[in-house]
Amino acid sequence: MLLPVALLCLALTAPALGVPVAVERPQKPRQKLLLVSFDGFRWDYDRDVDTPHLDAMAKDGVKAQYVTPPYLTITSPSHFTLLTGLYIENHGVIHNMWFNTTSMEKKAYYPTQFQNDWWDNGSLPIWITAQRQGLKAGSLHFPGTAASYQGEVAMVREVEPRFYNYGNETYWQRNIDTVMGWFGDQDLDFVSLYFGEPDGVGHKFGPDTPQRRAMVRQVDRAVGYMRAAAERRGLSGHLNVVITADHGMSALFRASEIKQIVLSKIPGFSFKDLSFHLVDYGPSGMLLPKPGMLDKVYGALKGAHPHLHVYKREEMPARMRFSNNGRILPIVLWADAGYLINGYLPVQTNKGEHGFDNHNMDMKPFFRAVGPAFRRNLEVGPFETVNIYPLMCHILGIRPEVNDGHLNATKHMLVSASEDKPGGMSTVKMAFTGLAAVVGLLAVVFIVRVSVHVHKRRNEDRVSNSSTHSDGFDEETAKSTSF
Ligand SMILES: [Zn+2]
Repeated sequence: MLLPVALLCLALTAPALGVPVAVERPQKPRQKLLLVSFDGFRWDYDRDVDTPHLDAMAKDGVKAQYVTPPYLTITSPSHFTLLTGLYIENHGVIHNMWFNTTSMEKKAYYPTQFQNDWWDNGSLPIWITAQRQGLKAGSLHFPGTAASYQGEVAMVREVEPRFYNYGNETYWQRNIDTVMGWFGDQDLDFVSLYFGEPDGVGHKFGPDTPQRRAMVRQVDRAVGYMRAAAERRGLSGHLNVVITADHGMSALFRASEIKQIVLSKIPGFSFKDLSFHLVDYGPSGMLLPKPGMLDKVYGALKGAHPHLHVYKREEMPARMRFSNNGRILPIVLWADAGYLINGYLPVQTNKGEHGFDNHNMDMKPFFRAVGPAFRRNLEVGPFETVNIYPLMCHILGIRPEVNDGHLNATKHMLVSASEDKPGGMSTVKMAFTGLAAVVGLLAVVFIVRVSVHVHKRRNEDRVSNSSTHSDGFDEETAKSTSF
């Protein structure tokens, strides 16, 4: 009778005492994570297009109303925020273009991807952090992939060729297959995957056009293809997918409708007073005045156009988090929605642009997430994209670098903030294990005390009653004391 009870007690107590037991539940595989960016996918792009696959993803997972990107709302800086959880002033990739104010050189978006010192300036993207903690990371076309960080790169990576067709759907499917192969065959834990659309059509045709709507349908098909590919490879049980973007897109006013912002036409302003400038790049600009010319340039531009914002770097609105970095030039300019900043002539021909204030609703990207870590059929309110990084680190079970995000901003999307942590234990589980340990120990103490008592009684009986006592009693006692 006492033996089975004692065995049960040991089984209950053993896990708490760190003793291996014969019947152990199989360890759940570590959760994997795919971060996907569809460049320039504005938060409301699914409102005027049928998107069955995005809708299914929202039903099976989480959808945010929208997310807020960092300022400056352009591609490389905003993507590096996703990878680091840092505002742009803190990660230092302050523009799509590398530039040198001494040599006056500038490099466009693509060659800047290979300008190592531009990216590797003190912050570590999540690939490197994950790898240093024993995980395997990869990246396909994601901005920042080509650079190395403190001498390290994502262990599996693909950088797009120079004149890449970002809109080719066959390429998209091939890229998805490649990434699923990395997760399946090479057992990668984290991959970032980038698509250059619908940014391209948004710029070229504008955000409210049939071309943009057609591209959103293509994005939707890609999401369906991606989820089916994960299913086919048996990955969906432990693969989480987060889909978001770097910024939105805003329609521009036609030239005839507005008074254009053309800096050279502003009275009192002269390019001769500058030693370096970055303008004709959408609605944003930065100026480096010659020594002693700062106040003259600032004074001429401030208030010169009703839709032009002019700030000294140190006086930038604090909420924009775009001042505390030596790479940001001393004068920062941005235009209201619909306007561009031109140098000498209005030469920009795009129908849509981004780079506006990150509080402008047109600049907000979308956010979807699905997988074992995420709750189902949940719509959440907006949050800043700096918070995606700590969420990803939590799912992967890695220690994040110092960052500007907070897990509190996103953890309500998770099945359980404590239970999904690999190797972690839920509060309920911990309480149950603790209770089992106490009960087990009490039972062992009880059995030992009973046995000792019975043994003592038997010896006493033997002494007092010589050899006439019942054998049955002795055998029964012997069984329990032999334990
Ligand atoms: Zn972009």
